[in-house]
Amino acid sequence: MTSAFAEEKTTLFDFRYWTAPNHTRIVIDTEADTAFKVSAKDNYVLLSVKNAKVLSQTFSHLFFEDERIERIQIKRSGDDIRLIFYTNEVFEVKHYTLAPNEKYKYHRLVIDLIDLQSKTAVADSAIEQDDEPERKVVLVDAGHGGEDPGASGKNGSREKDVNLAIAQKLVDTINQSDDITAILTRSGDYYIPLTERITIGLGKRATMFISIHADAVESTSAKGASIYSLSEKGEVSELAKQLEQSENSVDQFGGVETVIDSDQFLKTMLTDFSRKDRDIQSQQLAATILKQISTIGPVHKKTPQKANFVVLKSPAIPSVLVETAFISNPGQEARLNDSVEQQKIADAIFQGIKDYYSAVASQL
Ligand SMILES: [Zn+2]
Repeated sequence: MTSAFAEEKTTLFDFRYWTAPNHTRIVIDTEADTAFKVSAKDNYVLLSVKNAKVLSQTFSHLFFEDERIERIQIKRSGDDIRLIFYTNEVFEVKHYTLAPNEKYKYHRLVIDLIDLQSKTAVADSAIEQDDEPERKVVLVDAGHGGEDPGASGKNGSREKDVNLAIAQKLVDTINQSDDITAILTRSGDYYIPLTERITIGLGKRATMFISIHADAVESTSAKGASIYSLSEKGEVSELAKQLEQSENSVDQFGGVETVIDSDQFLKTMLTDFSRKDRDIQSQQLAATILKQISTIGPVHKKTPQKANFVVLKSPAIPSVLVETAFISNPGQEARLNDSVEQQKIADAIFQGIKDYYSAVASQL
């Protein structure tokens, strides 16, 4: 009787934390239909889970150093487990559940502690004052991050990490030049919803958007870079369709509320009449980057490709997505992890950006 009862306990399998500049995300791997309650007070957030147990192998993962959480306590109340996250400030607390997907086999319980006053919003309004007309600001987006690892290689590398390494090198390279400035969407291992990546660009008054990714397919022999611009009306390849699924999967990582917000957001953005200009400019930019990238390694397709990637829907600036290589190909995976190769990729993209700007200047 006792042992049968013990079998029925809900297991909390593992704990992950992702610290972003404006929020901390707590993720708990658990079972379907876990009975839980989240309550937030001024200096703590309490999660109670009915009739639950924690695995001894992952127990230590519960305790984590974070700038918003001072300490974490676990208490047992009868058969229930209570996790108390003591915070150093009052945060907006959101929680939701996420279903398993190809990356995570467990159901997940997510708690976000969000800063009340966004520090980045203050910085953005300061930038608004700058009215220099010739500014060239490239927003470099490291695809995926945090709870969203992106594709993974046969030898265990994760797309989110190589994307960030290449994006960081690209930003550093661009910022060494005199007339172009570059900014990262994310500078660490945390997730930013796709539409928020676009709003960061609007806030920073970016004049170009480049999203860095690496793709993956079943076959380990597929190789080479591809450059994508936006297509909202079909006419895309089979590979592009597959990629749309993996690159647009906001709902699996950002939570339901984010998806509803983003739909509304995109409706507003897509009424913009400058959409056509953006598409032509994006195709030009895709072509100049592809030309440069083909000088340093194989390309998967000899012409720029199109796909319906949410992240490319900035209202009026040229926006492209670079699939730098196939992380599913062990040779290319090694290349993506090699610092010298990462710099070569960054240099080629930067040269493509410069070629684009000179072409635009000569058309004036
Ligand atoms: Zn990706």
